[in-house]
Amino acid sequence: MKILVLNAGSSSLKFGVFDLARADSRVFKGEFERFEGGKAVLHYRVGGEAGTELEREESVPSLAAAVARVPALLEEFDCADIHAIGHRVVHGGERFRSTALIDEEMLAAIEQCSNLAPMHNPVALLTIRSSQEQWPGLPQAAVFDTAFHQSMPEHVYTYAIPQAWRQLGLRRYGFHGTSHHYVALRAAEALERPVQELRLLSCHLGNGASVCAISLGKSLDTSMGMTPLEGLVMGTRSGDVDPGLFAFLQHELGLDAAAIEQQLQNASGLLALCGNADMRSVEQHAAGGDKSAQLALKVYAYRVRKYLGAYAAAMGGVDAVVFTGGIGENSADMRQRICERLEFLGLYLDTDLNKAPDLDNFAVSTISAPDSKIQVLVTRTNEQFMIAREVQQVLQSEQAKPAVPCRIPVKVSARHVHLSQPDVEALFGEGHQLQLAHELSQIEGWAAEEHVELVGPKGSFAKVSVLGPTRSATQIEVSRTDCIALGIDAPLRDSGDLQGTPTIRMRGPGGEIDTDGVIIAARHIHMSPADGSALGLSNGDRVDMRIGSGARALSFANTLVRIKPSYATEMHIDTDEANAAGLRAASDGELIVKTSGPDADIVALAISAAPD
Ligand code: ADP
Repeated sequence: MKILVLNAGSSSLKFGVFDLARADSRVFKGEFERFEGGKAVLHYRVGGEAGTELEREESVPSLAAAVARVPALLEEFDCADIHAIGHRVVHGGERFRSTALIDEEMLAAIEQCSNLAPMHNPVALLTIRSSQEQWPGLPQAAVFDTAFHQSMPEHVYTYAIPQAWRQLGLRRYGFHGTSHHYVALRAAEALERPVQELRLLSCHLGNGASVCAISLGKSLDTSMGMTPLEGLVMGTRSGDVDPGLFAFLQHELGLDAAAIEQQLQNASGLLALCGNADMRSVEQHAAGGDKSAQLALKVYAYRVRKYLGAYAAAMGGVDAVVFTGGIGENSADMRQRICERLEFLGLYLDTDLNKAPDLDNFAVSTISAPDSKIQVLVTRTNEQFMIAREVQQVLQSEQAKPAVPCRIPVKVSARHVHLSQPDVEALFGEGHQLQLAHELSQIEGWAAEEHVELVGPKGSFAKVSVLGPTRSATQIEVSRTDCIALGIDAPLRDSGDLQGTPTIRMRGPGGEIDTDGVIIAARHIHMSPADGSALGLSNGDRVDMRIGSGARALSFANTLVRIKPSYATEMHIDTDEANAAGLRAASDGELIVKTSGPDADIVALAISAAPD
């Protein structure tokens, strides 16, 4: 499968074609930049990583024109047979936790977040609309920079500011998520350990820069916040400053908030400290004795180190630090400066390895000393590859969705009892055998002709159904409302789990007994192995089910799935649950989301219209 990745910035369009079946997967790399006088420069490369980088001038006056030019370029370089398109979108707000196929609803949601990323989301929207025109039949997906950080806990992403501001969406979102996620997966591969076991510090140090604390595979915290301005010192961005400077500068220099922000974005960082935003030049000037460049390097390194220390504490330890981005990959001097004084954490660099890490073919290089408790790694980031991979995964999970809608019959179990043979005889007379009244369509067992009376301390129920065949232990299944009427406190249990259950009196025509075994049966789905495999479910998984319709429709979370060859697929709930969902008769429920198992929380198995 070949995937075109489009990454539109405010002044450039990067694009690439990936064939993920190949180890050297980027078959075409291109970038339009320097739009001026109706023209732009095109940098391009064919023939994979070993290909030669070339450039030429193109008559494209704008970003939209650049997108429109891409199909002809792909024809020219013989890679127009693409199957899908992935777009980098900077801000997905709280809405998007993962990559998703683009539809009109998503475009509206991206537009809604545009006030949070005014420099980025509008150009992404323009690119998406334009590529929908160029490739009308192809699936297109959006990969969000913010999505990876949606795992940050509430106490991490919340700013301590007035609630009215927070209600506007003012919180920490984090960026560079695709890069941090990619780097974490590559580091785990190199360390030969599952990412879910690792505590990683990912340092993406490019023109923009951020550190991410990746705890057990998930972003726990990251240095960029509501916008990419927070956190580290960057090429032209200040990173953290005291928000008190807004009032001070307004008062002292008469600057308004927009002017101050503009300068914090474009005239701060390395540029403000030493007149140069490019780390290579800053290092050259510092080496030549330029004091302001020397200070800039110190400020830069100190800020990164401070975040590493803070995040080590936030995670309660660190297994590896990973450097990436133009500076993280190429500046041995900056890596050394950052790692100095982290020895107290057990982090020791190997100076020789640090000087020349092997980054060819996206290798992950170790630059820590053999006795370092924390591994220090360097690798080239590969956001476009990650975008292509995510798009492929989304398409594959779309294809894996069951063709049939996941509607599952729901049966309501009223109060009933299962009896042991000795209890049958105590209630109905010696040697009595339960008599079949009628089969129960999908449930194991049958309804017996016999009935019993349940007598609790507060109330009783006559004519309670008995289900056959007999079992090794008597079990009484009631609802919570029944418990209140009877005056007992039965626990919520799976069938057969009867230890420590309360005692109740049971009367039959031939006698009465006091027996334990009263439970409120936990809702569950009986499922045939064929349906289980069609839905990607295993015995013991839990799923969310939507049941009922209209105003009383309810989602029942964490419903246990039991798979057995003898089962026909059917969900069982009790009368309280049915009443709460407004069900009057047997109905269909709808499987919404898988909530446990290896890919829980990730795979939405089926979302279709609510039942009538
Ligand atoms: P972007 O965030 O725009 O993708 P990059 O990841 O390409 O940026 O990083 C650009 C930064 O990397 C610049 O500050 C550049 O000077 C720096 N850089 C690239 N190569 C080196 C090097 N050999 N030594 C020091 N800094 C370098």
